[in-house]
Amino acid sequence: MGPAMPAHPRGRPTTDTERAMNLSCFAQSYAEARQKFLASCARRGLAVDSHVHPLPGRDGEQLAIDVARLGAADAANLLVLSSGCHGIEGFCGSAIQIDRLDDDAWFAACQRGDLALLYIHALNPYGFSWERRVTQENVDLNRNFQDFAAPLADNPDYRAVAKLLLPERCPPTLASTLGLYGYALRHGRKALQAAISRGQHGDPRGLFFAGTEPTWSNRQLRQILRQHGRQCRRIGWIDVHTGLGPSGYGERIYKGRQEPADIARARQWWGPQVTNSAEGNSASSELNGTLDLAVLDECAQAQYNGLTLEYGTQPGLKVLTALRAEQWLENRPDTDAATRARIKAQLRAAFYVETDAWKRQVLEQAREVLELTRQGLATPLRALHQSESQAIAEQYSGMRARS
Ligand SMILES: [Zn+2]
Repeated sequence: MGPAMPAHPRGRPTTDTERAMNLSCFAQSYAEARQKFLASCARRGLAVDSHVHPLPGRDGEQLAIDVARLGAADAANLLVLSSGCHGIEGFCGSAIQIDRLDDDAWFAACQRGDLALLYIHALNPYGFSWERRVTQENVDLNRNFQDFAAPLADNPDYRAVAKLLLPERCPPTLASTLGLYGYALRHGRKALQAAISRGQHGDPRGLFFAGTEPTWSNRQLRQILRQHGRQCRRIGWIDVHTGLGPSGYGERIYKGRQEPADIARARQWWGPQVTNSAEGNSASSELNGTLDLAVLDECAQAQYNGLTLEYGTQPGLKVLTALRAEQWLENRPDTDAATRARIKAQLRAAFYVETDAWKRQVLEQAREVLELTRQGLATPLRALHQSESQAIAEQYSGMRARS
């Protein structure tokens, strides 16, 4: 979906770096992922602060947002790596965190008086464990960072497609799927994607529900930000997601203020391929209530540099079909075990590609993005001159025009 480019042509030979990759950082369940994360933190001598969730996990295990920090409390630069904002997408992000905990060279490079690392494991542990994209409140956490004191945004476009998205029958009738195609024909495919995925407050049993109050995960993250994010002067944040774009390609989606200097700085740090939903060049639509808003809100003293690292899995239509079926299932707890198992497996495949090739691609790109973040956080802390912003913007439009 979208104009994203594959990182490498298919069929290229495996490089030495990839062969050296230890893929055991990828887990089969939330419980296993958490245990691996905690073990890696312990090996590194990092204390972990666990925000324990009120509900048990799918296998009866404890659920928590686990936070590990390395570096001085008043370090000027804070590098944040977070996983599991969208529950089941945490298989990917958790593996990256473990890979970046187990690497001595990475840790040596990060040993700097003015730099701290913050790993936030499983922002939405409930969704991770139960293999859902949403929280226990059926809320899309990455749409939930809203100002709930203000009137909530209406999404009439979602209402227009809601019945087609989640009809009574599963698999949906041909008529409802044709109805969605019709909407895309009339308004454009991007408009349909935006209607569905932007976030909606009206239907708590619907897709991409943004909630009507802050979720448990939202409240915990704000607490973590107050504790860890208020003494730094600059933040570089990588939030790992899956489910959009070409399989194995990690799209670097800009998150932060829509200010030309800030966007330009992101492209200076992470390359001209950084996309921005507001510019219409990302596989993602413009979204409401995303995580970066909480950071900008809670850590207003710091310069914010945020990236959603979004890995493709399956074609967009397949991912949407999986999401529709799984929400249908959630709304019908009496569904028979065989149907349930089939639908849950379909959802897992839509957000976690369990092949060595995909896992290698994930780690390879994450390592690069994190190294670039570390380097960005080592540059002098100053605003870009207008001429510099302009030059980067021009380089970017040139590249887009050619691609
Ligand atoms: Zn996501």
